[in-house]
This record gives sequence, structure tokens and C-alpha cells, in this order.
Amino acid sequence: MDYLPLFYKVEGRQVLLVGGGQIALRKAKFLLRAGANIKLVAIEVCTELEKLLSASEHKIISRPYESDDINSVILIIAATNDLKLNQQIAENAANKNIPVNVVDQPALCTYIFPSIVDRSPLLIAVSSGGNSPVLARLLRSRLETIIPSGYGALTSFLGGYRARVKIKIDSFTGRMRFWERVINGPVAELFLAGKTTQADAMVESMLVEFDAEEFSQGEVYLVGAGPGDPDLLTFKALRLMQQADVVLFDRLVSQEILNMTRQDADKIHVGKQRQNHAMPQEEISSLLVKLANSGKRVLRLKGGDPFIFGRGGEEIEELALSKIPFQVVPGITAASGCSSYAGIPLTHRDYAQSVTFVTGHMKNNQCDLDWGNLVQEGQTVVIYMGLISLPFICEQLIKHGRASKTPIALIQQGTTPNQKIYIGTLRTLPEIIKANNVQAPTLIIVGEVVDLHDKLAWQ
Ligand code: SAH
Repeated sequence: MDYLPLFYKVEGRQVLLVGGGQIALRKAKFLLRAGANIKLVAIEVCTELEKLLSASEHKIISRPYESDDINSVILIIAATNDLKLNQQIAENAANKNIPVNVVDQPALCTYIFPSIVDRSPLLIAVSSGGNSPVLARLLRSRLETIIPSGYGALTSFLGGYRARVKIKIDSFTGRMRFWERVINGPVAELFLAGKTTQADAMVESMLVEFDAEEFSQGEVYLVGAGPGDPDLLTFKALRLMQQADVVLFDRLVSQEILNMTRQDADKIHVGKQRQNHAMPQEEISSLLVKLANSGKRVLRLKGGDPFIFGRGGEEIEELALSKIPFQVVPGITAASGCSSYAGIPLTHRDYAQSVTFVTGHMKNNQCDLDWGNLVQEGQTVVIYMGLISLPFICEQLIKHGRASKTPIALIQQGTTPNQKIYIGTLRTLPEIIKANNVQAPTLIIVGEVVDLHDKLAWQ
């Protein structure tokens, strides 16, 4: 993050505004919405601004800026078109550690103004960090259209109950669940439809009936995060990602996807890298049980699909034994993601009538696969975890009868911006891979369908 997002209380406090033109006028109107007392310094002040600041709590000083003007203010806005003056104000502010915004000169600012959606007391701020204010504004207008105007009043309505709920429900998790029920249930709808008395009565009865015990048992969501591109997440994955209190994720889950989980959720990295399991499987399983038993909603986020070479089955076996409620959400597995993004259909009427997924993971320098089956014509073989064993795999396939000119593709970091595709034959690919600096994860596709890449590549 380039900036720390926060909301600053300026009500009844003095803010220095330097400049008396249209831009200063716009800033003054904004400051007044938050109740600031404005000290305006400008040689010339436009009439509208003068009128706006006529109340006694504001001050208009009609002379050039002086460095003492920043004394006793909590915030500064320089809205002049005099670059030298702006520079001086910024320097004075820096010397006294007072936050300063210089309009249209991001390099001089120590804070910037976001675009906002104002449903006070609900406020949504959007910032592009000064990179593209227009993009931030467009996003803001999108948000405007999806947040009903009644949300401001709804926020105040909920705020009115906050203290009582805190007294009645003493656990943090309990309160969180209570509020989720209120907000996701009919209360909000009743309120927004103007039926405030009924909404009131419903919150009252929910509060009386609330049973904290009911929420002492947590649950686990075993969710497939797909192969990398966050747009390939399912709606269900996203919904549960935003609901979970704790997230256990492994290496294949990108930061971008992780950022889509709840901001305040605890995030625990539990591995796994080849030969470097950050946390042994048994420990992961027992941690899931422990967290769920303490009332948490736990997200077990896995790359691709949890049931395809993901050991998802083992993890839920433990949950089932411990009678912990869980759900499994499929994800797009690497084979689907990589083949689509590489323009290599896994089956094709003319070339492959079946597809087989295998793991190339080596044990004692061997990977024990049913080679006789894998060399059958008319099929595509997809190999997960096969980077290290690639030379061995190619050798075995040739040895067991698959033509050495059979096309084979290795897809690095499929569906991500770092996707790379290496294509060769069973004979040539190992050398090609050796000669390149290939980064995990990689997926291997063997079969005639690989030739379609030339025609179908669309990335
Ligand atoms: N459950 C996962 C697979 C986990 S095993 C799934 O369904 O996709 C880990 C292997 O998946 C990696 O070694 C690699 O072979 C493959 N893999 C996962 N994501 C990948 C990606 N973005 N690009 C290429 N291969 C990937």
C-alpha cells in the first residue's frame, strides 16, 4: 500500500486553506461537510467563497501566505497555482509534521483525497494513489449505483443498537454472527423499505432470542482457488473467502487471490513447496479441527481444485471424524486452466477421446506410473508435478511405445501474467527445458492435441 487509508476527524478543528479561487472553493465545501473550521489565506477571495466562510468559526485572512499561518492547524490544503508558494507551504508543513495536500502536485502531498461515496455515516473511499483519479472516479460511480441511498440511515439505525448488543453478547465472534444475521436477514430489507417499526421489533426479538452457544461451533470451507488468475474463482469461493475468520493457504495461492479474503481474517501459510512442507499434513488437519472447535469459520484455500492432487480428501476425512461441519468448493484445476489459456484442448474428436491426469512426483528417484496405459493412442496425458521427472517421463513413454515425435507442452505458471509455454516432442522437450530458466508450477500435456496450440493460441 502506498498510503494508509484512514478517516480523520476535523469537526470543530482548524484547517488551513491557502488560495481563494474555484479550487479552494471546492475544497472548502468538502471541508465544511466534515465540520472543519477553516482558516483561509489568500490575496484575493472569490465572492462565493467569502459567503461560504462568513460564519464566525471561520477566518478569512486577505494577504499573502506567511509561514506562521500553519500554527495551530491540524491539516493544510494548498490550492494556489503558484508553484513556488506551494513548495514553500509543503516545506513548512513538513517541518512541523502537519499533513499537507497540494492540489494537483502529488509529489508535494503527504496525504491525498480519495473519491468518496457518501452515505453518511457510511463512507466509502476509493483512491488510485494519484495514478489515475479518473479510474477512481469511475469506480466510485459504479459503487454509487450498487449502494442504495438508504444505507446511510440503515447504518445509523444499526449504530443505535451497538452498545446494547455489546452488553448482551459478550464474545466478539458472537457479536459478529449476530450482526451478520441482522444485516443479511430481513431486518435490513424491512428498514430499507421504510418499515422501521417492524425492523426495530425484529432486532429486539433477535437480541432476546440470540443464543451464543449456537455459534460456539465453527466450520471449515475447503475451497479451490483455481490455477492463478483471480477471475477464475467461483462466486461461491469468493463468498466464503469473504466470510471466513481464518485462512489457511498454501504456496500455490497467489497474493492477489489472498487479498480477496476478508481484510481482518488471520492468514496462515501452511506450505507446501517441494521438499519444504511448511506444516506437515497431520498438523494442518488438526489445526483445522482446533480452529473450527473454537467457533471459527475456517477457509482452507488450495490452488486449483482441492480434490485433484490437493490432499483435500485427507483433510476433510479428519473433519468428518471430528464431526465438524464443512463444505467443499471445487476450483478450476491446473489442467483445465493451463490447457484453456494455452489453446490446447484436452480432448478433440480427431485426436484424443480420453484424458488422463497423473502425478509426476518422484519417490526414491522413481515415478511409478502405469506406462502401458499412458502410451495408448487417442488419449491426452496431463502430468502434474512433473518438472523434475520430465526427462524420466519422456524416456519411459518412448520406451513403452509412444512415438518419440509425439508433441508435448510444458506450461509454466499457467493463467498468470507469467505464463510461458514450451513445446517440443518427447525426444526434444527435456533439452529445451534444461536450456531455459523454468519456474514452478508447471504442467505437462502430452498428445496430438498439443499441435493445435499453433492454431488456437489466443493469449
Ligand atoms: N490441486 C491442484 C494441484 C495441486 S498439485 C489443481 O487442481 O490444480 C501442484 C501441481 O499443480 C503443480 O506442481 C503443477 O503441476 C500444477 N499447477 C498448479 N497450478 C499451476 C499453474 N498455474 N500452472 C501450471 N501448473 C500448475
